[in-house]
Amino acid sequence: MQYRSTRNTSPIASNGLLGFEDTVRAGLAADGGLYVPTEVPTIFNYAENAEEWSNLEYCQVAFRIFRKFIPAHEINDAELLAIVEKSYTAFDDEKVTPVVKMVRILELWHGPTFAFKDVALQFLGNLFDFFLSRPQPADSQSERTTRIAVLGATSGDTGGAAIYGLRGKRNVDVFIMHPKNRISPVQEQQMTSVLDPNVHNIAVDGATFDDCQEIVKVLMGNPEFKKKYSLAAVNSINWARILAQTTYYFVAYLAVMKELGLEGEKDVSKLPRLNFAVPTGNFGDILAAYYAKKMGLPIGDLIIATNNNDILHRFIQTGIYEKPTSPTTNPSDAVRITHSPAMDILVSSNFERVLWHFAHEHYDRDAVAASIAVRGWMDSLKIDGRFEAPEGVWRRARETFRSHTVCDADTVAAIGKWFGKTGYVLDPHTAVGVVSAEREIETLVAREIDPEKVYSVVLATASPGKFPEAVFEAVPVGLKYEEFAPEPLVRQAGLPKRMITVTVVGNDRQKAVDDVRRVLEATLGL
Ligand SMILES: *Cc1c(COP(=O)(O)O)cnc(C)c1O
Repeated sequence: MQYRSTRNTSPIASNGLLGFEDTVRAGLAADGGLYVPTEVPTIFNYAENAEEWSNLEYCQVAFRIFRKFIPAHEINDAELLAIVEKSYTAFDDEKVTPVVKMVRILELWHGPTFAFKDVALQFLGNLFDFFLSRPQPADSQSERTTRIAVLGATSGDTGGAAIYGLRGKRNVDVFIMHPKNRISPVQEQQMTSVLDPNVHNIAVDGATFDDCQEIVKVLMGNPEFKKKYSLAAVNSINWARILAQTTYYFVAYLAVMKELGLEGEKDVSKLPRLNFAVPTGNFGDILAAYYAKKMGLPIGDLIIATNNNDILHRFIQTGIYEKPTSPTTNPSDAVRITHSPAMDILVSSNFERVLWHFAHEHYDRDAVAASIAVRGWMDSLKIDGRFEAPEGVWRRARETFRSHTVCDADTVAAIGKWFGKTGYVLDPHTAVGVVSAEREIETLVAREIDPEKVYSVVLATASPGKFPEAVFEAVPVGLKYEEFAPEPLVRQAGLPKRMITVTVVGNDRQKAVDDVRRVLEATLGL
Protein backbone atom coordinates (compact mmCIF):
# COMPACT_ATOMS: atom_id res chain seq x y z
CA MET A 1 0.00 0.00 0.00
CA GLN A 2 1.43 3.32 -1.08
CA TYR A 3 0.08 6.85 -1.13
CA ARG A 4 0.26 9.56 -3.79
CA SER A 5 -0.58 13.24 -3.83
CA THR A 6 -3.81 14.33 -5.55
CA ARG A 7 -1.65 16.85 -7.46
CA ASN A 8 1.20 14.50 -8.43
CA THR A 9 1.34 14.96 -12.22
CA SER A 10 4.63 13.14 -12.73
CA PRO A 11 4.39 10.62 -15.59
CA ILE A 12 6.91 8.35 -13.85
CA ALA A 13 4.73 5.93 -11.92
CA SER A 14 6.95 5.55 -8.86
CA ASN A 15 7.65 9.28 -8.40
CA GLY A 16 6.54 10.76 -5.11
CA LEU A 17 4.88 7.62 -3.75
CA LEU A 18 5.11 7.36 0.03
CA GLY A 19 4.63 4.64 2.61
CA PHE A 20 2.33 5.10 5.58
CA GLU A 21 4.73 6.70 8.05
CA ASP A 22 5.95 9.35 5.63
CA THR A 23 2.37 10.06 4.56
CA VAL A 24 1.36 10.64 8.16
CA ARG A 25 4.41 12.74 8.92
CA ALA A 26 3.91 14.87 5.81
CA GLY A 27 0.24 15.79 6.32
CA LEU A 28 -0.06 18.04 3.28
CA ALA A 29 2.03 17.12 0.21
CA ALA A 30 4.76 19.55 -0.85
CA ASP A 31 2.89 20.17 -4.14
CA GLY A 32 -0.14 21.39 -2.16
CA GLY A 33 -2.13 18.20 -2.74
CA LEU A 34 -3.47 15.61 -0.30
CA TYR A 35 -2.29 12.01 -0.05
CA VAL A 36 -4.66 9.29 -1.24
CA PRO A 37 -4.27 5.51 -1.49
CA THR A 38 -4.15 4.92 -5.25
CA GLU A 39 -6.27 1.81 -5.00
CA VAL A 40 -8.68 1.19 -2.16
CA PRO A 41 -8.72 -2.55 -1.40
CA THR A 42 -11.97 -4.42 -0.88
CA ILE A 43 -11.59 -5.74 2.64
CA PHE A 44 -15.15 -6.62 3.54
CA ASN A 45 -17.83 -8.79 1.99
CA TYR A 46 -21.07 -8.78 3.92
CA ALA A 47 -22.12 -12.37 3.15
CA GLU A 48 -18.74 -13.73 4.14
CA ASN A 49 -17.65 -11.44 6.96
CA ALA A 50 -20.65 -9.87 8.69
CA GLU A 51 -21.37 -12.65 11.15
CA GLU A 52 -17.81 -12.76 12.42
CA TRP A 53 -17.16 -9.01 12.41
CA SER A 54 -20.34 -8.17 14.26
CA ASN A 55 -18.97 -10.03 17.26
CA LEU A 56 -15.71 -8.09 17.27
CA GLU A 57 -14.89 -5.28 19.62
CA TYR A 58 -14.22 -1.80 18.27
CA CYS A 59 -10.42 -2.17 18.42
CA GLN A 60 -10.49 -5.46 16.53
CA VAL A 61 -12.50 -3.90 13.70
CA ALA A 62 -10.10 -0.95 13.62
CA PHE A 63 -7.14 -3.31 13.53
CA ARG A 64 -8.51 -5.27 10.56
CA ILE A 65 -9.14 -2.10 8.55
CA PHE A 66 -5.90 -0.32 9.40
CA ARG A 67 -3.86 -3.47 8.70
CA LYS A 68 -4.78 -3.21 5.02
CA PHE A 69 -3.57 0.39 4.80
CA ILE A 70 -0.41 0.13 6.93
CA PRO A 71 2.23 -2.29 5.63
CA ALA A 72 3.42 -4.76 8.28
CA HIS A 73 7.06 -3.84 7.69
CA GLU A 74 6.20 -0.33 8.90
CA ILE A 75 4.15 -1.34 11.97
CA ASN A 76 3.85 -5.03 12.86
CA ASP A 77 0.66 -6.72 14.12
CA ALA A 78 1.48 -6.55 17.82
CA GLU A 79 2.56 -2.92 17.57
CA LEU A 80 -0.50 -1.88 15.60
CA LEU A 81 -2.90 -3.57 17.98
CA ALA A 82 -1.14 -1.94 20.93
CA ILE A 83 -1.43 1.53 19.34
CA VAL A 84 -5.11 1.00 18.57
CA GLU A 85 -5.94 -0.24 22.05
CA LYS A 86 -4.04 2.60 23.69
CA SER A 87 -5.95 5.09 21.52
CA TYR A 88 -9.40 4.04 22.70
CA THR A 89 -8.85 3.54 26.43
CA ALA A 90 -9.68 7.19 27.14
CA PHE A 91 -13.26 6.76 25.87
CA ASP A 92 -15.93 6.60 28.55
CA ASP A 93 -18.12 4.04 26.76
CA GLU A 94 -16.91 0.45 26.42
CA LYS A 95 -18.30 0.27 22.88
CA VAL A 96 -16.21 3.43 22.08
CA THR A 97 -18.84 4.74 19.60
CA PRO A 98 -22.19 3.28 20.67
CA VAL A 99 -25.27 3.39 18.45
CA VAL A 100 -28.06 4.66 20.67
CA LYS A 101 -30.91 2.36 19.75
CA MET A 102 -34.08 4.32 20.23
CA VAL A 103 -33.13 7.14 17.89
CA ARG A 104 -30.18 5.62 16.05
CA ILE A 105 -27.76 8.31 16.88
CA LEU A 106 -24.13 7.25 16.56
CA GLU A 107 -22.43 8.89 19.52
CA LEU A 108 -18.86 9.72 18.52
CA TRP A 109 -18.18 12.00 21.45
CA HIS A 110 -17.14 9.70 24.28
CA GLY A 111 -13.46 10.68 24.08
CA PRO A 112 -11.61 13.12 26.36
CA THR A 113 -12.79 16.35 24.65
CA PHE A 114 -16.34 15.16 23.92
CA ALA A 115 -16.20 15.71 20.16
CA PHE A 116 -15.69 13.19 17.39
CA LYS A 117 -12.21 14.47 16.57
CA ASP A 118 -10.89 12.45 19.53
CA VAL A 119 -11.47 9.21 17.60
CA ALA A 120 -8.83 10.32 15.12
CA LEU A 121 -6.51 12.43 17.27
CA GLN A 122 -6.06 9.87 20.04
CA PHE A 123 -4.85 7.45 17.35
CA LEU A 124 -2.71 10.06 15.59
CA GLY A 125 -1.08 11.06 18.89
CA ASN A 126 -0.12 7.46 19.58
CA LEU A 127 1.14 6.98 16.02
CA PHE A 128 3.43 10.00 16.35
CA ASP A 129 4.61 8.71 19.71
CA PHE A 130 5.39 5.34 18.12
CA PHE A 131 7.16 6.78 15.06
CA LEU A 132 9.25 9.22 17.07
CA SER A 133 10.28 6.79 19.80
CA ARG A 134 11.64 4.02 17.62
CA PRO A 135 15.04 4.00 15.94
CA GLN A 136 14.81 4.79 12.23
CA PRO A 137 16.04 2.07 9.87
CA ALA A 138 19.47 2.85 8.42
CA ASP A 139 18.13 2.72 4.86
CA SER A 140 15.41 5.24 5.60
CA GLN A 141 15.25 7.55 2.59
CA SER A 142 13.56 10.49 4.20
CA GLU A 143 14.96 12.87 6.76
CA ARG A 144 12.75 11.71 9.58
CA THR A 145 13.28 13.52 12.84
CA THR A 146 12.85 12.08 16.31
CA ARG A 147 11.21 15.18 17.79
CA ILE A 148 8.48 17.38 16.39
CA ALA A 149 6.64 20.55 17.26
CA VAL A 150 3.00 20.52 16.24
CA LEU A 151 1.72 23.96 15.34
CA GLY A 152 -1.96 24.64 14.77
CA ALA A 153 -4.75 27.17 14.97
CA THR A 154 -8.20 26.39 16.23
CA SER A 155 -11.66 27.85 16.39
CA GLY A 156 -12.48 25.29 19.06
CA ASP A 157 -12.76 21.54 18.60
CA THR A 158 -9.61 20.65 16.67
CA GLY A 159 -7.18 22.34 19.02
CA GLY A 160 -8.69 20.70 22.06
CA ALA A 161 -8.64 17.23 20.51
CA ALA A 162 -5.03 17.76 19.35
CA ILE A 163 -3.95 18.84 22.83
CA TYR A 164 -5.62 15.85 24.49
CA GLY A 165 -4.17 13.52 21.84
CA LEU A 166 -0.61 14.82 22.32
CA ARG A 167 -0.41 15.80 25.99
CA GLY A 168 2.40 14.08 27.84
CA LYS A 169 3.97 12.62 24.66
CA ARG A 170 7.69 12.68 25.21
CA ASN A 171 8.90 13.72 21.76
CA VAL A 172 6.22 16.21 20.82
CA ASP A 173 5.61 19.81 21.76
CA VAL A 174 2.23 21.17 20.81
CA PHE A 175 1.51 24.85 20.17
CA ILE A 176 -2.13 25.71 19.57
CA MET A 177 -3.24 29.24 18.81
CA HIS A 178 -6.75 30.44 19.40
CA PRO A 179 -8.31 33.89 18.95
CA LYS A 180 -8.49 35.27 22.48
CA ASN A 181 -12.05 35.53 23.87
CA ARG A 182 -13.50 34.39 20.55
CA ILE A 183 -13.90 30.68 21.21
CA SER A 184 -16.61 29.27 23.41
CA PRO A 185 -15.89 29.44 27.17
CA VAL A 186 -16.31 25.65 27.48
CA GLN A 187 -13.69 25.07 24.79
CA GLU A 188 -11.30 27.67 26.13
CA GLN A 189 -11.41 26.19 29.61
CA GLN A 190 -10.96 22.67 28.22
CA MET A 191 -7.82 23.52 26.24
CA THR A 192 -6.10 25.89 28.62
CA SER A 193 -6.56 23.76 31.73
CA VAL A 194 -4.21 21.10 30.33
CA LEU A 195 -1.03 21.79 32.25
CA ASP A 196 1.34 19.17 30.81
CA PRO A 197 4.71 20.78 30.13
CA ASN A 198 4.61 19.89 26.40
CA VAL A 199 1.32 21.75 25.83
CA HIS A 200 1.46 25.43 24.92
CA ASN A 201 -1.74 27.38 24.40
CA ILE A 202 -1.26 30.69 22.66
CA ALA A 203 -4.11 33.18 22.95
CA VAL A 204 -3.86 35.78 20.19
CA ASP A 205 -5.48 38.97 21.42
CA GLY A 206 -7.20 41.10 18.79
CA ALA A 207 -7.16 38.29 16.21
CA THR A 208 -9.78 36.18 14.47
CA PHE A 209 -9.45 32.46 13.74
CA ASP A 210 -8.33 33.31 10.20
CA ASP A 211 -5.57 35.57 11.53
CA CYS A 212 -4.34 32.65 13.66
CA GLN A 213 -4.50 30.35 10.64
CA GLU A 214 -2.52 32.90 8.65
CA ILE A 215 0.21 33.00 11.33
CA VAL A 216 0.50 29.20 11.06
CA LYS A 217 0.75 29.47 7.28
CA VAL A 218 3.48 32.10 7.43
CA LEU A 219 5.58 30.12 9.92
CA MET A 220 5.04 26.80 8.14
CA GLY A 221 5.82 28.47 4.83
CA ASN A 222 9.33 29.35 6.00
CA PRO A 223 11.34 26.22 5.06
CA GLU A 224 14.30 27.01 7.32
CA PHE A 225 12.16 27.64 10.35
CA LYS A 226 10.00 24.62 9.61
CA LYS A 227 13.02 22.37 9.36
CA LYS A 228 14.85 23.80 12.35
CA TYR A 229 11.92 23.11 14.67
CA SER A 230 10.56 20.07 12.79
CA LEU A 231 7.15 21.67 12.56
CA ALA A 232 4.27 19.31 11.89
CA ALA A 233 0.54 19.73 11.45
CA VAL A 234 -2.30 17.55 12.66
CA ASN A 235 -5.14 19.25 10.80
CA SER A 236 -7.98 17.29 9.30
CA ILE A 237 -6.23 16.56 6.03
CA ASN A 238 -3.82 14.10 7.71
CA TRP A 239 -4.43 10.66 6.22
CA ALA A 240 -4.25 8.85 9.56
CA ARG A 241 -7.23 10.87 10.78
CA ILE A 242 -9.35 9.77 7.84
CA LEU A 243 -8.28 6.15 8.27
CA ALA A 244 -9.12 6.20 11.99
CA GLN A 245 -12.64 7.46 11.24
CA THR A 246 -13.53 4.54 8.93
CA THR A 247 -13.84 2.16 11.89
CA TYR A 248 -17.05 3.50 13.36
CA TYR A 249 -18.94 3.15 10.09
CA PHE A 250 -18.22 -0.59 10.15
CA VAL A 251 -19.01 -0.85 13.85
CA ALA A 252 -22.28 1.09 13.55
CA TYR A 253 -23.43 -0.68 10.39
CA LEU A 254 -22.84 -4.08 11.97
CA ALA A 255 -24.47 -3.04 15.24
CA VAL A 256 -27.69 -2.02 13.49
CA MET A 257 -27.80 -5.20 11.36
CA LYS A 258 -27.20 -7.29 14.45
CA GLU A 259 -29.97 -5.46 16.27
CA LEU A 260 -32.24 -6.42 13.36
CA GLY A 261 -31.06 -10.05 13.56
CA LEU A 262 -29.45 -9.85 10.13
CA GLU A 263 -25.79 -10.49 10.88
CA GLY A 264 -26.03 -13.94 9.29
CA GLU A 265 -27.81 -12.79 6.11
CA LYS A 266 -25.98 -14.15 3.06
CA ASP A 267 -28.10 -12.39 0.45
CA VAL A 268 -27.04 -8.77 0.61
CA SER A 269 -30.03 -7.67 -1.48
CA LYS A 270 -32.26 -8.64 1.46
CA LEU A 271 -30.56 -6.17 3.79
CA PRO A 272 -32.37 -2.91 4.53
CA ARG A 273 -30.82 0.27 3.21
CA LEU A 274 -28.73 1.89 5.93
CA ASN A 275 -28.02 5.60 5.37
CA PHE A 276 -25.59 7.78 7.27
CA ALA A 277 -26.23 11.50 7.75
CA VAL A 278 -22.99 13.31 8.56
CA PRO A 279 -22.71 16.88 9.90
CA THR A 280 -20.04 18.20 7.56
CA GLY A 281 -17.45 20.97 7.55
CA ASN A 282 -14.05 20.11 6.17
CA PHE A 283 -15.37 16.81 4.73
CA GLY A 284 -13.09 14.54 6.78
CA ASP A 285 -15.80 12.59 8.56
CA ILE A 286 -17.97 11.78 5.55
CA LEU A 287 -14.89 11.07 3.43
CA ALA A 288 -14.15 8.19 5.81
CA ALA A 289 -17.65 6.84 5.03
CA TYR A 290 -16.86 7.02 1.32
CA TYR A 291 -13.70 4.96 1.89
CA ALA A 292 -15.57 2.44 4.08
CA LYS A 293 -18.08 1.97 1.26
CA LYS A 294 -15.26 1.53 -1.25
CA MET A 295 -13.74 -1.12 1.06
CA GLY A 296 -16.93 -3.16 0.71
CA LEU A 297 -19.29 -2.02 3.48
CA PRO A 298 -22.72 -1.91 1.76
CA ILE A 299 -23.74 1.54 3.05
CA GLY A 300 -26.86 3.09 1.47
CA ASP A 301 -26.88 6.85 0.96
CA LEU A 302 -24.20 9.14 2.32
CA ILE A 303 -25.93 12.34 3.34
CA ILE A 304 -23.87 15.53 3.56
CA ALA A 305 -25.47 17.72 6.22
CA THR A 306 -24.32 21.34 6.10
CA ASN A 307 -25.32 24.52 7.87
CA ASN A 308 -25.62 27.79 5.89
CA ASN A 309 -21.99 27.41 4.85
CA ASP A 310 -23.21 25.21 2.04
CA ILE A 311 -20.49 25.05 -0.62
CA LEU A 312 -20.79 21.24 -0.79
CA HIS A 313 -24.57 21.28 -1.03
CA ARG A 314 -24.36 23.74 -3.90
CA PHE A 315 -21.79 21.56 -5.66
CA ILE A 316 -23.99 18.47 -5.43
CA GLN A 317 -26.89 20.51 -6.86
CA THR A 318 -25.00 22.25 -9.67
CA GLY A 319 -21.58 20.68 -10.31
CA ILE A 320 -20.04 24.08 -9.60
CA TYR A 321 -17.75 24.46 -6.62
CA GLU A 322 -17.80 28.13 -5.72
CA LYS A 323 -16.64 30.10 -2.71
CA PRO A 324 -19.20 32.56 -1.41
CA THR A 325 -18.26 36.18 -2.00
CA SER A 326 -17.37 38.39 0.93
CA PRO A 327 -19.40 41.51 1.75
CA THR A 328 -16.12 43.25 2.70
CA THR A 329 -12.55 43.27 1.43
CA ASN A 330 -11.64 40.54 3.92
CA PRO A 331 -12.39 37.18 2.22
CA SER A 332 -12.97 35.41 5.53
CA ASP A 333 -16.02 37.63 6.17
CA ALA A 334 -17.85 35.38 3.69
CA VAL A 335 -18.07 32.69 6.37
CA ARG A 336 -21.50 32.67 7.96
CA ILE A 337 -21.45 32.47 11.75
CA THR A 338 -23.90 29.77 12.84
CA HIS A 339 -24.94 27.70 15.85
CA SER A 340 -22.73 24.87 14.55
CA PRO A 341 -19.35 26.65 14.55
CA ALA A 342 -17.24 23.55 13.81
CA MET A 343 -18.89 23.54 10.38
CA ASP A 344 -18.40 27.25 9.64
CA ILE A 345 -16.01 26.94 6.70
CA LEU A 346 -15.48 28.54 3.29
CA VAL A 347 -14.14 25.49 1.45
CA SER A 348 -13.93 21.84 2.48
CA SER A 349 -10.27 20.83 2.12
CA ASN A 350 -10.80 17.07 2.13
CA PHE A 351 -13.22 17.28 -0.79
CA GLU A 352 -10.12 17.34 -3.00
CA ARG A 353 -9.56 13.66 -2.18
CA VAL A 354 -12.94 12.49 -3.34
CA LEU A 355 -12.65 14.69 -6.43
CA TRP A 356 -9.42 12.87 -7.23
CA HIS A 357 -11.08 9.46 -6.92
CA PHE A 358 -13.99 10.58 -9.12
CA ALA A 359 -11.54 12.00 -11.67
CA HIS A 360 -9.54 8.76 -11.49
CA GLU A 361 -12.65 6.78 -12.49
CA HIS A 362 -13.73 9.39 -15.03
CA TYR A 363 -10.32 9.38 -16.79
CA ASP A 364 -10.17 5.57 -17.10
CA ARG A 365 -8.14 5.03 -13.94
CA ASP A 366 -5.28 7.21 -15.17
CA ALA A 367 -3.76 8.65 -11.98
CA VAL A 368 -1.76 11.33 -13.78
CA ALA A 369 -4.77 12.54 -15.78
CA ALA A 370 -6.75 12.70 -12.54
CA SER A 371 -4.05 14.76 -10.85
CA ILE A 372 -3.76 17.14 -13.81
CA ALA A 373 -7.52 17.71 -13.62
CA VAL A 374 -7.52 18.23 -9.83
CA ARG A 375 -4.62 20.63 -10.08
CA GLY A 376 -6.51 22.66 -12.69
CA TRP A 377 -9.65 22.83 -10.57
CA MET A 378 -7.72 23.89 -7.47
CA ASP A 379 -5.91 26.57 -9.47
CA SER A 380 -9.25 27.95 -10.74
CA LEU A 381 -10.63 27.87 -7.22
CA LYS A 382 -7.69 29.95 -6.07
CA ILE A 383 -7.77 32.41 -8.95
CA ASP A 384 -11.48 32.68 -9.84
CA GLY A 385 -13.02 31.42 -6.62
CA ARG A 386 -14.81 28.64 -8.53
CA PHE A 387 -14.55 25.70 -10.90
CA GLU A 388 -17.02 23.58 -12.79
CA ALA A 389 -16.56 19.81 -12.77
CA PRO A 390 -17.02 17.77 -15.96
CA GLU A 391 -20.42 16.07 -16.20
CA GLY A 392 -18.92 12.61 -15.49
CA VAL A 393 -17.37 13.79 -12.23
CA TRP A 394 -20.47 15.66 -11.13
CA ARG A 395 -22.65 12.63 -11.90
CA ARG A 396 -20.45 10.42 -9.71
CA ALA A 397 -20.73 12.98 -6.91
CA ARG A 398 -24.53 13.02 -7.25
CA GLU A 399 -24.72 9.24 -7.24
CA THR A 400 -22.48 8.96 -4.20
CA PHE A 401 -23.76 11.76 -1.99
CA ARG A 402 -27.09 13.31 -1.09
CA SER A 403 -27.00 16.72 0.58
CA HIS A 404 -29.05 19.14 2.62
CA THR A 405 -28.46 22.56 4.12
CA VAL A 406 -30.03 23.43 7.46
CA CYS A 407 -30.43 26.97 8.85
CA ASP A 408 -30.01 27.96 12.52
CA ALA A 409 -33.75 28.27 13.13
CA ASP A 410 -34.35 24.68 11.96
CA THR A 411 -31.36 23.50 14.01
CA VAL A 412 -32.73 25.03 17.20
CA ALA A 413 -36.23 23.76 16.43
CA ALA A 414 -34.89 20.23 16.03
CA ILE A 415 -33.11 20.34 19.39
CA GLY A 416 -36.33 21.50 21.06
CA LYS A 417 -38.51 18.96 19.25
CA TRP A 418 -36.24 16.01 20.04
CA PHE A 419 -35.91 16.98 23.66
CA GLY A 420 -39.68 17.27 23.97
CA LYS A 421 -40.33 13.97 22.22
CA THR A 422 -37.55 11.75 23.60
CA GLY A 423 -35.71 13.63 26.36
CA TYR A 424 -32.52 13.23 24.30
CA VAL A 425 -30.43 16.41 23.99
CA LEU A 426 -28.82 16.98 20.58
CA ASP A 427 -25.79 19.19 20.10
CA PRO A 428 -26.34 21.74 17.29
CA HIS A 429 -24.03 19.95 14.80
CA THR A 430 -25.83 16.67 15.39
CA ALA A 431 -29.15 18.51 15.01
CA VAL A 432 -28.10 19.59 11.50
CA GLY A 433 -27.57 15.90 10.76
CA VAL A 434 -30.92 14.92 12.24
CA VAL A 435 -32.83 17.49 10.15
CA SER A 436 -30.98 16.33 7.02
CA ALA A 437 -31.83 12.68 7.73
CA GLU A 438 -35.49 13.60 8.25
CA ARG A 439 -35.61 15.57 5.02
CA GLU A 440 -33.97 12.68 3.22
CA ILE A 441 -36.69 10.31 4.40
CA GLU A 442 -39.25 12.62 2.77
CA THR A 443 -37.55 12.14 -0.62
CA LEU A 444 -37.68 8.34 -0.55
CA VAL A 445 -41.14 7.77 -2.02
CA ALA A 446 -40.39 10.03 -4.98
CA ARG A 447 -37.19 8.02 -5.53
CA GLU A 448 -39.26 4.80 -5.44
CA ILE A 449 -37.54 3.54 -2.30
CA ASP A 450 -39.74 1.89 0.34
CA PRO A 451 -39.30 3.96 3.52
CA GLU A 452 -40.05 0.85 5.58
CA LYS A 453 -36.77 -0.64 4.36
CA VAL A 454 -34.61 2.36 5.18
CA TYR A 455 -32.74 2.95 8.40
CA SER A 456 -30.90 6.17 9.15
CA VAL A 457 -27.97 6.70 11.44
CA VAL A 458 -27.04 10.27 12.31
CA LEU A 459 -23.51 10.92 13.49
CA ALA A 460 -23.44 12.78 16.80
CA THR A 461 -20.22 14.74 16.42
CA ALA A 462 -20.18 16.50 19.78
CA SER A 463 -21.72 16.23 23.19
CA PRO A 464 -24.40 18.91 23.76
CA GLY A 465 -22.39 19.90 26.84
CA LYS A 466 -19.84 21.48 24.51
CA PHE A 467 -22.38 23.78 22.86
CA PRO A 468 -24.84 24.71 25.60
CA GLU A 469 -25.81 28.08 24.06
CA ALA A 470 -27.89 26.49 21.29
CA VAL A 471 -29.38 23.96 23.71
CA PHE A 472 -30.57 26.71 26.05
CA GLU A 473 -32.00 28.66 23.13
CA ALA A 474 -34.02 25.58 22.17
CA VAL A 475 -35.01 24.60 25.70
CA PRO A 476 -35.05 27.86 27.68
CA VAL A 477 -36.60 26.51 30.87
CA GLY A 478 -36.46 23.33 32.90
CA LEU A 479 -33.07 22.00 31.80
CA LYS A 480 -29.86 22.41 33.78
CA TYR A 481 -26.34 22.20 32.33
CA GLU A 482 -25.44 19.32 34.67
CA GLU A 483 -28.31 17.32 33.23
CA PHE A 484 -26.87 17.07 29.73
CA ALA A 485 -23.13 17.80 30.06
CA PRO A 486 -20.58 15.05 30.77
CA GLU A 487 -19.23 15.33 34.28
CA PRO A 488 -15.67 16.42 33.39
CA LEU A 489 -17.10 19.44 31.53
CA VAL A 490 -19.14 20.40 34.57
CA ARG A 491 -16.16 19.94 36.87
CA GLN A 492 -13.63 21.83 34.73
CA ALA A 493 -15.09 25.26 35.51
CA GLY A 494 -12.74 26.26 38.32
CA LEU A 495 -9.56 24.50 37.17
CA PRO A 496 -6.37 26.56 36.84
CA LYS A 497 -5.47 27.61 33.29
CA ARG A 498 -2.21 28.32 31.53
CA MET A 499 -1.70 30.22 28.30
CA ILE A 500 0.68 32.60 26.65
CA THR A 501 -0.91 35.76 25.26
CA VAL A 502 0.36 37.62 22.23
CA THR A 503 -1.30 40.74 20.91
CA VAL A 504 -2.10 41.88 17.41
CA VAL A 505 -2.07 45.65 17.28
CA GLY A 506 -4.12 47.15 14.46
CA ASN A 507 -3.25 45.37 11.24
CA ASP A 508 0.33 44.58 12.28
CA ARG A 509 0.21 40.86 11.65
CA GLN A 510 3.96 40.67 11.18
CA LYS A 511 4.45 41.55 14.83
CA ALA A 512 2.10 38.73 15.85
CA VAL A 513 4.01 36.31 13.63
CA ASP A 514 7.29 37.41 15.23
CA ASP A 515 5.82 37.10 18.72
CA VAL A 516 4.63 33.55 18.06
CA ARG A 517 7.99 32.67 16.51
CA ARG A 518 9.70 33.93 19.67
CA VAL A 519 7.38 31.81 21.83
CA LEU A 520 8.49 28.72 19.90
CA GLU A 521 12.15 29.69 20.06
CA ALA A 522 12.04 30.41 23.77
CA THR A 523 10.19 27.18 24.52
CA LEU A 524 12.20 24.86 22.31
CA GLY A 525 15.43 26.69 23.01
CA LEU A 526 17.28 25.71 19.86
C1 LIG B 1 -15.01 19.07 13.07
C2 LIG B 1 -16.45 18.91 13.40
C3 LIG B 1 -17.42 18.69 12.39
C4 LIG B 1 -17.07 18.66 10.92
O1 LIG B 1 -16.33 17.53 10.54
P1 LIG B 1 -15.52 17.50 9.17
O2 LIG B 1 -14.74 16.26 9.20
O3 LIG B 1 -14.65 18.73 9.18
O4 LIG B 1 -16.52 17.53 8.07
C5 LIG B 1 -18.73 18.52 12.78
N1 LIG B 1 -19.10 18.58 14.08
C6 LIG B 1 -18.21 18.81 15.06
C7 LIG B 1 -18.69 18.90 16.46
C8 LIG B 1 -16.85 18.96 14.77
O5 LIG B 1 -15.97 19.19 15.76
